[in-house]
Amino acid sequence: MAEARSKISYLLERLSQGVASHDRENPGHHSWGVGMAHFDIERLGLEEGEEILPGIILQADGGVTGAFRVLCDGDHDAEQEAAEEEMVEAVSQETRELEIVRPGGAEGTPERIRPPF
Ligand SMILES: [Zn+2]
Repeated sequence: MAEARSKISYLLERLSQGVASHDRENPGHHSWGVGMAHFDIERLGLEEGEEILPGIILQADGGVTGAFRVLCDGDHDAEQEAAEEEMVEAVSQETRELEIVRPGGAEGTPERIRPPF
């Protein structure tokens, strides 16, 4: 599926940008992975433990969905959120498709609009 593949390549781009910006802001840290909610890993068709980027392992971390965490050997206790990057755009399209609800009537039979008299 070409569509799924482009979604993944977009995601990979976001991940590598996130890791790069983490490394830039935390020059003393060594990043070794990316954490995602198990739910996101599943719906993106990824696998926990796979090397998603060179030297970066995908890890289910129980964090919030729609975002990923850069995993590193540094200390982020106080500023953990700083290492969290949004990936909503990459993932949300799928969610949005599922949320489309057409109340009543089949497609192609638009409701007849009556003039107000
Ligand atoms: Zn770090």
